[in-house]
Order: sequence, then structure tokens, then C-alpha cells
Amino acid sequence: NKPVVAIVGRPNVGKSTLFNRIVGSRISIVEDEPSITRDRIYADAEWLGRPFLMVDTGGIEFNEEVKMKEKMRYQAEIAIEEADVILFTVDIRDGLTNRDKEIAELLRKADKPVIIAANKAENIKEAKLAKYDFYELGFSEICLVSAQHGQGTGDLLDEVISHF
Ligand code: GDP
Ligand code: MG
Repeated sequence: NKPVVAIVGRPNVGKSTLFNRIVGSRISIVEDEPSITRDRIYADAEWLGRPFLMVDTGGIEFNEEVKMKEKMRYQAEIAIEEADVILFTVDIRDGLTNRDKEIAELLRKADKPVIIAANKAENIKEAKLAKYDFYELGFSEICLVSAQHGQGTGDLLDEVISHF
């Protein structure tokens, strides 16, 4: 049984980009349910010889009538239930948003390690300043990354596997 790492975060912060960066092309089909599709969100990954299973909770598909707040709650619940480590992704360019705070509130209730991946941090000077806003969320591990360009993802994964 491999450790499970779940990515959570509001839409458009770069969850899928980070997921793809970490797993490469090792997507594995896992399961399907009638009203909620969860079959494309799992993939095998590995860092420094340590295998783990990645989950992109943002890839869960819902019926049209499900509201954003409910979706985010469900995604957080999946992460809290299934994950050994939670990668809470935020957008350093947008800064801290109310949605980020709502997700943080859900994640704080879990007794699981949470690492903040502060994404879109290509402009490292700007990002280093913007990073401090996110400590308000209550998690002490904050990694600056650029999922699109790859900066910081190695340090992030070092942090992730240190919790296995
Ligand atoms: P998701 O909704 O959280 O899964 O976000 P996506 O992975 O679909 O990305 C949302 C948008 O942000 C896309 O246009 C991505 O190209 C962009 N994006 C993702 N990662 C980065 C990054 O590291 N830097 C920048 N500048 N854009 C990014
Ligand atoms: Mg996505």
C-alpha cells in the first residue's frame, strides 16, 4: 500500500498542472461511480525512489447542479479521508482569497500533514514577499513552486516524502 498524496485547492490555481508535472504520464484508471466521476484523478508517482499515489481532487466530475462550495467541501473530504499528505495549492499571483480560507478551515480539522504549494511563483522576488500572506492559513510548510516551468517542485517533493 503506497502512501497517498492529494492535491486540493480552488479552481485555476494550477492543481492539474502540478499533478501532471509530478506524475508525468503514469495516469492509472482506478474507479468510477455513477454521479461522481473519480476515475481519472489517480496516478502513480515516485520521488527519489519512493513510490506514492497522487490524487487530483480538482479532477472529480460532478453533476451540473452541484455548487462550488459543495464541490470544494467534497474534494477536501476526499483528501482528508484518503491522503497521507495533503498538497494545498494556492495562486501566489492572486494572493490569499476567501475560497483559500474556506478550504483551509476544512483541512485544519484533519490530523494530516498539509503542505501549501504556492504556485505560479516564476517571479521569485515577488513571490517571496507574497508568500507571507499565506501563513494566515495556519500551515507552516509553504513551498514556492511553478508547476508550469518546474521551479521548486523538487523541494516540494522532498517535503512531501519526509512525511511518509
Ligand atoms: P486547476 O483548475 O487548479 O487544475 O488549474 P490548471 O492546472 O488547469 O491551471 C489553471 C491555469 O493556470 C492554466 O492556464 C495554467 O496554464 C496556469 N498555470 C498553472 N501552473 C502555472 C504556473 O506555474 N505558472 C503560471 N504562470 N501559470 C500556471
Ligand atoms: Mg484541474
